[in-house]
Amino acid sequence: MKEKVNSIQNEIEQELNKVTDLKELNDIRTRYLGKKGPIAELSSSLASLSIEEKKEFGAILNNLKTSVNSKIDSIKNKLEMEELNKKLESEKIDISLPATKIPVGAPNILERVVEEIEELLMSMGYDVVDGPEIEEDKFNFEMLNIPKGHPARDAQDTFYIEDEKILLRSQTSPVQARTMLKGEGKTPIRMICPGKTYRRDDDDATHSHQFMQIEGLLVDKDISLSDLKGTFDVIAKKLFGEDCKTRFRPSYYQFTEPSVETDISCFACKGTGCSLCKNTGWITVSGAGMVHPNVLRNCGYDPEVWSGFAFGFGAERLAMLKYGINDIRAFYQTDLREVNTFDRKDVD
Ligand SMILES: [Zn+2]
Repeated sequence: MKEKVNSIQNEIEQELNKVTDLKELNDIRTRYLGKKGPIAELSSSLASLSIEEKKEFGAILNNLKTSVNSKIDSIKNKLEMEELNKKLESEKIDISLPATKIPVGAPNILERVVEEIEELLMSMGYDVVDGPEIEEDKFNFEMLNIPKGHPARDAQDTFYIEDEKILLRSQTSPVQARTMLKGEGKTPIRMICPGKTYRRDDDDATHSHQFMQIEGLLVDKDISLSDLKGTFDVIAKKLFGEDCKTRFRPSYYQFTEPSVETDISCFACKGTGCSLCKNTGWITVSGAGMVHPNVLRNCGYDPEVWSGFAFGFGAERLAMLKYGINDIRAFYQTDLREVNTFDRKDVD
């Protein structure tokens, strides 16, 4: 019996000396200390021995079990530590290496132009108002003094959705009509409505079937064309610099009377003449005018009491001028090279 115990002990020690990983170690534990292992076998053979021998060999077997278990545990700890060190070594971070640049987004330049005007006009007491892009003919045209069959409708080739009643708004002016109706002819109005508009234009460098308007409306008592001129002057200076001059030229729109086209002095040649201003020294940037009495009346404001002005910018045109972009399609095509030129920054 003693010899058997010694030989098992030697066998286990030899095996344990060769162990290189946790799986092998676990196999040894199962093989020698398991229910069918040699130690369990010896334990069951104790039954045939005398009480004295049982005591003696029982103690020997227990010692063997305890010493094998503690050896296996200590090897297990050692192997686990080695494995952890290996892992730490392989995952070591070299903080002296240069960081990978991460591309991040930035506001689109159209959005930046819109925000610039919004912030300026909000500081002057204007509200930013939103309205539906799918609009009723009534708000898009009729309330704005453009009845059915009127030739002014031809200038805005409209996308109709349902007969001639529902359409994709061809201008943001219907938001003005809706806002005035809410005012019920009683409240002064200061609002801007930036938003998408749609016309059946063939897309080219200067036309897009979808574009963005920024319209403003002010309705109050004793408002005159000089108030419009002053407001336009402030906007132009904010967008194109303090030395920007402005002028009005007579024009015609159905919803304003009188109507004007608004020009800014050419920022490229400072008025001496260049290709941007077609040698005139002036660049047209928006249409504007005093709100037509019919529009005021249609929207519940008595033109004898109230007067107002309205102006409308094309956001793309402003952005093209401000950032020197010569093709409107750049705003709507997903060419990242174009987008990156203006919008992307990389951060470390
Ligand atoms: Zn010029």
